[in-house]
Amino acid sequence: MTFTTDPALRPIEHKVDEGIPLSREDGVALLRTGDLHALGRMAKRAKERKSGKNVFYVLNRYINSTNVCYAGCRFCSFAADENKERDRAVRMTADEVFAKALETGTNFNQLHIVGGHDPRQLSLDYWLPLMRRFKEALPHVQLSLFTAAEIDYLARRHRLPYDDVLAQLKDAGLDNINGGGAEVFSERFRKLVCPNKVDAANWLRLHEVAHAQGIASNATMLYGTIETLEERVEHLIALRESQERSPGFNAFIPLAFHPDGNELSDCGWTSGLDDIRMFATARLMLHNFDHIKAYWMIQGLKVCQVALHFGADDMDGTHGSTDEERIYHSAGTQSGQYVDDREFRRLIGEAGYVPVRRNTTYDLFPPDWKPEQGESDVVRARRLQPRAMAGASGD
Ligand code: SF4
Repeated sequence: MTFTTDPALRPIEHKVDEGIPLSREDGVALLRTGDLHALGRMAKRAKERKSGKNVFYVLNRYINSTNVCYAGCRFCSFAADENKERDRAVRMTADEVFAKALETGTNFNQLHIVGGHDPRQLSLDYWLPLMRRFKEALPHVQLSLFTAAEIDYLARRHRLPYDDVLAQLKDAGLDNINGGGAEVFSERFRKLVCPNKVDAANWLRLHEVAHAQGIASNATMLYGTIETLEERVEHLIALRESQERSPGFNAFIPLAFHPDGNELSDCGWTSGLDDIRMFATARLMLHNFDHIKAYWMIQGLKVCQVALHFGADDMDGTHGSTDEERIYHSAGTQSGQYVDDREFRRLIGEAGYVPVRRNTTYDLFPPDWKPEQGESDVVRARRLQPRAMAGASGD
């Protein structure tokens, strides 16, 4: 039993050790506790039961292919109206996206692309040929493309059910759906902050249909605006229940709100303590998620290194050495665009953990692995197999 000055943590620790899912009240107690040391010890123990001393990173190429979007989410500093903000609007052609991905060589294992709900780019005609081109040129690279919000928009534009559009994306090479667009599932929050994007039920349903088809995914939550602590915990519980219904989430990534240049700027920045509590609470609530990711672009390298002692077991990865990330840079992040993989290994090692190179679905690579080496020394993770999903409706 961990020594704690907060009596509310004792029964929670017992449940965690017994593998009993934590309740809404437990989650709120974790987010409120003043005993950060006890919280950290519990989260660290839960994380080490899953990953041991390993902390993961990926050699990644990150691109925002368009920021044209008319959804009007109030926390967003990234979206541009191409008619009113011509100097800010960026829409890359398929050739430009392809060239940008290969600009810094081919030694990466994940291509991560997300963008706005752009009526002229977000279509199967644009993406399917581009995805096939990537798979042909970069067979060792996993395609981590879109969020559920983007795929929902794509499906509605083509008037296709989710299972149809996802089958076409998978056939063209989609390995993973990024975790964004979840924001906070609360209906109250979505009505006030992001009424024009996919609702919570459909965000979850789309991921569940994808998992049933063998497409992996991640999940996120945007915290630090107008959500209550109860709404944060309910969001985590909804993810946990979704993972029970249709497993396939690999990692949960807490996304701290950034206030520059958007309508919610009065909410200000999250604090370091709020960030740390979020990592630990996520680790303890999401017992059926294998990984909690501390994404350096968002909380910064220093907080993310500390988060390794508060439940996080993944630092995301490199972005390539050109300036491609626009979402958080539009909103004021002080993180740069690029961190060398040697720096990840140094930070992870200094925190007392073993740095392990991975791809999107957690196949493991030697740190100096290169595409020409082939796959002989890659440790394959158990891959998600397509399966019939009980209760899945047509889409
Ligand atoms: S968060 Fe995404 S969907 Fe919402 S306005 Fe920004 S780019 Fe568009």
